[in-house]
Amino acid sequence: MKFNTKAVHEGVRKDESYNSVITPIYPSSTFRFDRIGENRGYDYTRSGNPTRKALEENIAALEEGVAASCTSTGMSASTAVLHLLKTGDHVITGNDIYGGTYRLMTSLFSDMGIKFDFIDMASVSNIKQYITSTTKMIWIETPSNPLLRIVDIRAICRIAQEQSLIVVVDNTFMTPYFQKPLLLGADISLHSTTKYINGHSDVVGGAIVSKTLDLAQKIYFNVNALGVSEAPFDSWLVLRGVKTLPLRMEKHQQNALKIAEFLNHHPKVIHTYYPGLKTHPNYELCQSQSSGFGAMLSFDLDESQLTLDDFFAKLKYYSLAESLGGVESLIEAPWYMSHASMSEEARNLAGIKKCNVRVSVGIEDSEDLIEDLSQALD
Ligand SMILES: *Cc1c(COP(=O)(O)O)cnc(C)c1O
Repeated sequence: MKFNTKAVHEGVRKDESYNSVITPIYPSSTFRFDRIGENRGYDYTRSGNPTRKALEENIAALEEGVAASCTSTGMSASTAVLHLLKTGDHVITGNDIYGGTYRLMTSLFSDMGIKFDFIDMASVSNIKQYITSTTKMIWIETPSNPLLRIVDIRAICRIAQEQSLIVVVDNTFMTPYFQKPLLLGADISLHSTTKYINGHSDVVGGAIVSKTLDLAQKIYFNVNALGVSEAPFDSWLVLRGVKTLPLRMEKHQQNALKIAEFLNHHPKVIHTYYPGLKTHPNYELCQSQSSGFGAMLSFDLDESQLTLDDFFAKLKYYSLAESLGGVESLIEAPWYMSHASMSEEARNLAGIKKCNVRVSVGIEDSEDLIEDLSQALD
């Protein structure tokens, strides 16, 4: 099956009672045993649920992994993955990862005695310098947020394999439609399905896809033990959303490319960050590991000409909101909003400026989207 066919058909359980075409929702918290030790594959919804299972099979197929676990949020997916580690273990990750992941690592998991280095992941030789005898995991996010830097997944996986380190890729921005980390050598591909996978800004969720059965079993154990699995109704919504992922990603990207080109030439824009621009320093690397550039972009507004507040107030089609990946365009200021959970020092280190504006480009008409930006900038 090709990707678009998988998105529509994989995991979608055929209901044998009434021949419904879509997967039913099974809200039942518990399932009847036929006799001691004998049930129909499910006993309790935290541990397993037919609707969630359908979604897990679908996402595992799209990412080309052996299995997926779907979780209540993207952060609970990260929590379950980080619980593969023990006190004394060391993790290398980027200095510009998602703010919530940074907060989780620097607070709760640091308190448990796990060590993190937040570094510039652009140079593989730099990463090598940080590997010690206690290093267990490399955590990649690419493209990064909000500056859309690209990290070389293949090269990092090569070093990691030599040292038997687990490589985790947060694939939320690209989705498996554009990027398949497991095929590039990663062990785990992780998602906030809240974003593109669901795509309609109406549910929060996460997914963890593993390359090996051994890892999949450990992740399943963690998700069940922590109690962070996705609810049946939410699983059903995400399964509905994922079916149109390929169509949405194509349109998101077409719009993003046009908007990036428009911004890149605007006199009130100091710099535009989008890996699909030929001037982006990682344009070629992005093409070598992904089949697209995604639809997240950001830009630095020249605040000597126009303040963020005045700019945002004039926009008609872009909601001033955090989150991303929905059909509607969203806009925000990372310094004050999505990345406020990082210390000021960490934001500076990541290169995030106060005048940086992040756009999650929706699937509206690109002419409307550009016209709106144009009138707000003018
Ligand atoms: C949103 C997001 C998360 C966290 O997901 P939630 O569903 O909000 O818990 C993690 N990583 C990235 C890249 C994200 O954009």
